Amino acid sequence: MARFIFITGGVVSSLGKGLASAALGALLQARGFSVRLRKLDPYLNVDPGTMSPFEHGEVFVTDDGAETDLDLGHYERFTGVAARATDSVSSGRIYSNVLEKERRGDYLGKTIQVIPHVTNEIKDFIRIGEDEVDFMLCEIGGTVGDIEGLPFFEAIRQFAQDRPRGQCIFMHLTLLPWIAASGELKTKPTQHSVKELRAIGIAPEILVCRSEQPIPDKEREKIGLFCNVRKESVIAAYDLKSIYEAPLAYHREGLDQAVLDAFAISPAPRPDLRVWQDVADRIHNTDGTVKVAIVGKYTQLEDAYKSIKEALTHGGMANRVKVDVEWVDSEVFDSEDPAPYLEGFHAILVPGGFGERGTEGKIKAAQFARTRGIPYLGICLGMQMAVIEAARNVAGLTAAGSEEFDHEAGATRFEPVVYHLKEWVQGNEKVTRKPSDAKGGTMRLGAYDAVLSEGSRVARAYGGTAIDERHRHRYEVDTKYRETLEAAGLKFSGMSPDGRLPEIVEWADHPWFIGVQFHPELKSKPFAPHPLFADFIRAAVETSRLV
Ligand code: GLN
Repeated sequence: MARFIFITGGVVSSLGKGLASAALGALLQARGFSVRLRKLDPYLNVDPGTMSPFEHGEVFVTDDGAETDLDLGHYERFTGVAARATDSVSSGRIYSNVLEKERRGDYLGKTIQVIPHVTNEIKDFIRIGEDEVDFMLCEIGGTVGDIEGLPFFEAIRQFAQDRPRGQCIFMHLTLLPWIAASGELKTKPTQHSVKELRAIGIAPEILVCRSEQPIPDKEREKIGLFCNVRKESVIAAYDLKSIYEAPLAYHREGLDQAVLDAFAISPAPRPDLRVWQDVADRIHNTDGTVKVAIVGKYTQLEDAYKSIKEALTHGGMANRVKVDVEWVDSEVFDSEDPAPYLEGFHAILVPGGFGERGTEGKIKAAQFARTRGIPYLGICLGMQMAVIEAARNVAGLTAAGSEEFDHEAGATRFEPVVYHLKEWVQGNEKVTRKPSDAKGGTMRLGAYDAVLSEGSRVARAYGGTAIDERHRHRYEVDTKYRETLEAAGLKFSGMSPDGRLPEIVEWADHPWFIGVQFHPELKSKPFAPHPLFADFIRAAVETSRLV
């Protein structure tokens, strides 16, 4: 039976709860335990699938096809445990389940209330798969005191109460602000935050305190005293050069030891931190820098492309180079020469995206990379744009476009080399979609197999011809144009096993130009960089040596 660690946050948001949870997961693994991490989000959207990346950051897709919070990406990158649909839940999903049961009559005419109906639904969620791991880490989104968060806090309080003593602990993240004028770290906001938690019946065993300055012993004692936490369980979390130093940093501060002590696990198994030492070494000992442009639409919020940014960093670690990422807004050169914006980069990446805005600029970026011999990685929409570019400028299909944009622009005469797929096969099942289906969850989502052509660049990069990767899209490249495009030099080097869906295209006579219909970034890890990102950065290093 699993032990449970509930992770909450206070004082301010964005303290890095997700990162702390992920790092703790990695440390428990280093001590030989199996872990699973979960996120419980108080917002009312049923899932983040329809939330704007501008507002909420990237949507992280799991193998089993759930559109989840980007924190699940952190969890996977630190623990290597593939997240599942059942690792993320929102208030919206919980309420929707409760209301569905109410409509079905499952509650036998009872009055439906937050306690016990909503809290029971949350507790049922927390329990899923508890027998599979040694530790289940559940992070509660938001900050203590948020109105929407209350049912979650109440549910975890009850959960711990329902269980035998010592099976659940609470870890709380806070901020110790530094007041420059008096030269002091302030503990009062932390005291208040813990007071708020205790008022709702939760007494944290561990406090993780974000702080810019080292926490003096005196302050540590004070926090312990006022918050009723052992002094050794007041853990400092300083700003780090790289998030991947977090496991080692938290270990130095004693987080994993404090957690094992809280569970009275003694003697504590010794940690094996070699993986993280190697990761840290690759961050600190680099030889050179490559500059990569991410040409996209959601460039104001870096979190919109979180996994891509991380996967590029991993690609850098694989090659022991630093990767400088610059965000370039493609809309700016929709009807201009992109050269002034793209010259000087050693590689260009066009990420996924939705809608027509900025796509002409992305097509130009693909053309720029193709004609100048710059490494290009097109992901999902970035692949579709590369195909349209090839169709228009090399294969003579001058009116090539995508049905996705036709809907928006109302254009009439165009060649839909990218079209809206309404039927496909997943495993042994046929999946069908209608254009009238609701926006949420109507895409080809989750892991699908692909078969790579022998001798292709991608087969070399992957070191094999059978892969599976995660998808999140409605539109597909039409195989009707395959012959024409291949004759022009754009090879369809990866296909779905039934041969109907193009998964990868590559220019045969280009140093490194690959478009993929899936999202390889979602599976990259610092200790196991994704082969496409590792090879892409290798190619960028070569380009950097030419200039
Ligand atoms: N908008 C495109 C589609 O739905 C691409 C999606 C994506 O890049 N994730 O097919």
